[in-house]
Amino acid sequence: MSEDYFADMRGQLNNSYGSLGGEGADEMDQVVVKPLDRAGVHYAARCHFCGQKNQIDLTWPEIAYVAQGQQPEQWVYDAARGAMRPNIGCCKCHVVMMFLVTPDECMRHLHAGEAAGYLQPGYVNALRQRLQQASAGYRR
Ligand SMILES: [Zn+2]
Repeated sequence: MSEDYFADMRGQLNNSYGSLGGEGADEMDQVVVKPLDRAGVHYAARCHFCGQKNQIDLTWPEIAYVAQGQQPEQWVYDAARGAMRPNIGCCKCHVVMMFLVTPDECMRHLHAGEAAGYLQPGYVNALRQRLQQASAGYRR
């Protein structure tokens, strides 16, 4: 599965701008992960509609949900991309932010959060064990 959710959009930008598609075009769909903290993971993402930079905050419980393939409350599952997004609008134009995260990505955040001391030691292992038990249950 590709982790570049904006690959198709970037392709369109490059096609339409041709040789002019440079750093400016790339910056439009740039998603930046900011340093983790006790609250969770913070992203900066530009609105695909108006270009406004939005900060998107994901809490650790939300990240743990997504890492387990579960949908947190108020989130939307994008089946086409196999990813989930918080149901939030741009702070400027209020268009729904096309901001997607995958379970793999969230699992990496949990690892980083545990390594940084923001989650209890063993948190990720416990979560993985729960996941394995759950998938073993499905096979029965
Ligand atoms: Zn906007």
